[in-house]
Amino acid sequence: MHSYEKDGILTLEDLVIPTKKQLEKGVAFIECIQEIPCNPCVDSCPVGAISMKNINAPPIVDYDKCIACGQCIGICPGLAIFLIKTKGDKVFITLQYEFLPIPIVGNKVKALNRKGEVVDTAIVKRIAKKDKTFIITIEANKDFAMEIRNIRV
Ligand code: SF4
Ligand code: SF4
Repeated sequence: MHSYEKDGILTLEDLVIPTKKQLEKGVAFIECIQEIPCNPCVDSCPVGAISMKNINAPPIVDYDKCIACGQCIGICPGLAIFLIKTKGDKVFITLQYEFLPIPIVGNKVKALNRKGEVVDTAIVKRIAKKDKTFIITIEANKDFAMEIRNIRV
């Protein structure tokens, strides 16, 4: 049983964690473990790094194949894909953001964990838009690389 099934909140036990080296290279980290018929992430990847055993199975990222291009992030209807790259004592996390107000580059924002709790202060480094979704890259403390999954402006 996934820990997710107890309270609806994913924990690292539910996920395959990239190595330190893979995180330094940059990888897509997918937090999608429910069995739902969905697969645009698989088709979006230019190097075939995302696979599924079948249309209902959770996606699996080959972290060594992933070139951290970010193509898969804006495509996910479940806001379940993050791009994570560490550098020195910092982490750069790219995520989909669907709230208002939209921050601007250079803003300090609250970095939230999966429960919505504030764990750090992050700096907005980049903002892009794909259809109606904003895709935001933040810089935060590397210690929270596997915790920060949202922001509050
Ligand atoms: S970041 Fe790019 S290379 Fe990596 S899984 Fe997503 S689409 Fe594929
Ligand atoms: S697009 Fe998002 S919700 Fe759909 S299978 Fe991929 S990660 Fe899961």
